[in-house]
Amino acid sequence: MSNHLFDAMRAAAPGNAPFIRIDNTRTWTYDDAFALSGRIASAMDTLGIRPGDRVAVQVEKSAEALILYLACLRSGAVYLPLNTAYTLAELDYFIADAEPRLVVVASAARGGVETIAKPHGAIIETLDADGSGSLLDLARDEPADFVDASRSADDLAAILYTSGTTGRSKGAMLTHGNLLSNALTLRDYWCVTAGDRLIHALPIFHTHGLFVATNVTLLAGASMFLLSKFDPEEILSLMPQATMLMGVPTFYVRLLQSPRLDEQAVASIRLFISGSAPLLAETHTEFQARTGHAILERYGMTETNMNTSNPYEGKRIAGTVGFPLPNVTVRVTHPATGLVLPPEETGMIEIKGPNVFKGYWRMPEKTAAEFTADGFFISGDLGKIDRDGYVHIVGRGKDLVISGGYNIYPKEVEGEIDQIEGVVESAVIGVPHPDFGEGVTAIVVRKPGAVLDEKAIVSALQDRLARYKQPKRIIFAEDLPRNTMGKVQKNILRQQYADLYA
Ligand code: ATP
Ligand code: MG
Repeated sequence: MSNHLFDAMRAAAPGNAPFIRIDNTRTWTYDDAFALSGRIASAMDTLGIRPGDRVAVQVEKSAEALILYLACLRSGAVYLPLNTAYTLAELDYFIADAEPRLVVVASAARGGVETIAKPHGAIIETLDADGSGSLLDLARDEPADFVDASRSADDLAAILYTSGTTGRSKGAMLTHGNLLSNALTLRDYWCVTAGDRLIHALPIFHTHGLFVATNVTLLAGASMFLLSKFDPEEILSLMPQATMLMGVPTFYVRLLQSPRLDEQAVASIRLFISGSAPLLAETHTEFQARTGHAILERYGMTETNMNTSNPYEGKRIAGTVGFPLPNVTVRVTHPATGLVLPPEETGMIEIKGPNVFKGYWRMPEKTAAEFTADGFFISGDLGKIDRDGYVHIVGRGKDLVISGGYNIYPKEVEGEIDQIEGVVESAVIGVPHPDFGEGVTAIVVRKPGAVLDEKAIVSALQDRLARYKQPKRIIFAEDLPRNTMGKVQKNILRQQYADLYA
């Protein structure tokens, strides 16, 4: 019997070496973690969880939560992590959609979750941030030497809901083969070895923190410092003990705000990685000037794991997401005709490879609509591949503004606005306009104390952008709405300003 993903993790595990370190107070070795995963898998078996059953998990970040993920792999269950910010009403949608056999939640949430999950026939168990709860109570008396369920490359390992940046979250079905192939590719591409010590400050209900960070660590036999949240000062204190950091762009922006960040502070770090949202070229440049490190930016999504990465050796170019990963094919097509475009031309990014998911959970029509006849996944992101082969993302198809019949890529306009003295950042959106269809609209965050009004920005853009690209209105805001991964939620802005030109 073989278990495609977990067998590879087991083969890579360096026994008694550390896997997870918490607050410098507790260390989980690989042996400890695998033993507990066996006990949890045994407990789930006793509860009647069978291969293919979904296990929905909405818990705080902890070593035990990651070990529960391993237990699901071993038992053949489909791991289904849920954002801890979801309310009961939101949870109701996911539980009705996924029909999990087991739901694991914090003990404080048990009562509420019971009322929504019981009618669907789910069993409820608890797991708290400190590892206590009914799940581990059950696991304690179970044997650690669980016989792993047989799982092939094509069997489901997880259903991960997308971030919901552009609409309702969709459940992406990821197989053992998807996860293993991508983790091995990234391990080798980024030269991750057993000697690496990763700072893990990301949430574990998204691809980034769960698969990129955790699977790569496991398949390298490396270790990680598991932090419950991102705190720049805490991370700066840990840096001398670590070799890698994986973050979203906001991590880097906030690290730059600390006077402690300099070459000395990062002396033991081998690699800084960024993804999940665009890293501003300015952040990349500033970080390099302060630390000597060129942040390595990569691009991926829930449905595909990682697709492209800047190189480990070789030039990491700010504002690009690097080259297609080995065995991953990336192409750019004309959004209307679907014809493949030559280098430098902007269009829809399409992806094919062993990393690409099996489809959206219980959405066969949506799945069919997102694949081309020749098997490429239509990512929904717009971008181009330059002459040197670097992929550039210009934004999401859904964020494209069409004004007076012209296509306007928000990123281009944002780039110009962000260069104006006194601007921190901006978001450009299209909102309904009686004459133009959509009116280009900019939401701008100013630096504290900056004297900058709508007129000043409009006149600064006069010579920099064609008239049709220039915002019809500039709105100042304290900050931009962002989700946990630092993605700007343009749908919220579009709703907020829907009546601006009415
Ligand atoms: P939904 O699909 O529900 O609207 P989402 O697309 O934000 O939400 P995720 O799968 O978490 O959900 O995010 C993937 C998206 O994040 C990509 O499609 C891309 O738009 C963006 N992204 C990821 N990495 C980068 C990057 N390095 N640069 C720019 N955008 C990125
Ligand atoms: Mg998406």
